[in-house]
Amino acid sequence: MSIEIKDLSYIYLPGTPYEKTALKKINMHIGKGEFIGLIGHTGSGKSTLAQHLNGLLKPTQGSISIDGVSLWEKKKPPADLCRKVGLVFQYPEHQLFAETVYEDVAFGPRNLDIPEAELPSLVRQSLEWVGLSYEEFKDRSPFALSGGQKRRVAMAGVLAMQSDVLVLDEPTAGLDPAGRKEMISLVKQLYQKYDRTVVWISHNMDEIARLVNRLIVMYRGKIYLDGAPREVFAREQELKNIGLDIPAAAAVVRRLKERGKPVPGRAITIDEA
Ligand code: ADP
Repeated sequence: MSIEIKDLSYIYLPGTPYEKTALKKINMHIGKGEFIGLIGHTGSGKSTLAQHLNGLLKPTQGSISIDGVSLWEKKKPPADLCRKVGLVFQYPEHQLFAETVYEDVAFGPRNLDIPEAELPSLVRQSLEWVGLSYEEFKDRSPFALSGGQKRRVAMAGVLAMQSDVLVLDEPTAGLDPAGRKEMISLVKQLYQKYDRTVVWISHNMDEIARLVNRLIVMYRGKIYLDGAPREVFAREQELKNIGLDIPAAAAVVRRLKERGKPVPGRAITIDEA
């Protein structure tokens, strides 16, 4: 499972007074087993890029392929490929709609024509992936759950499509500190134990700095920095130049350097985070 992006540009509302270039010539490869943090200011293009990863948006220019197959050869991208990349939007719980947790999680796979008889085990598995007990939650109304639980159910709905790659847009937004902690450990588990490739979008570098093994910084529709967290933090001045100040993370790198220890970088393991 890999995603290849070549010279991707995207313009919203082209030819109108509201025309806005959101992505400019993005080149990027996402390989299996990566845990990527995609960061940058609001409006830098993170969500627009995310929506290209599973064929929701069609590039204005350039191409995107999954496992070597270009998504836009035909009018519509191949559904079986797009399904491999699950996109969890901001506040995904706003998309919950069914009367029970079971029906909500089963909705996606049912639309994929997965036989009804296979749905219970798939829903059970998906709820387990997000740390919720099937027996306890399947008949409950999604609307009566806590904020963190709702978000888990929404994520289970995406995982039920059996996606290999999980793209999470600001997954901790609006959660209290306990909910944020839970979400971080849940995503770590999806990465470590359940072998998902993860792209975590955030505008908060501190939050994901020690979690991911690759950081991509976007700025005004372009990739500004891309590398191991260690490499990215070391470019302190460049980060300051675009107004991304990361005192805490930069201090860690500096301390480690002063003591002559190797600075954790691509080799950061999730356990250390
Ligand atoms: P981020 O996720 O980093 O906040 P976005 O991808 O949402 O950035 O936005 C990139 C740029 O595209 C911004 O200037 C934003 O205003 C613009 N944009 C985003 N969505 C739309 C839209 N639906 N219509 C017009 N412009 C948009």
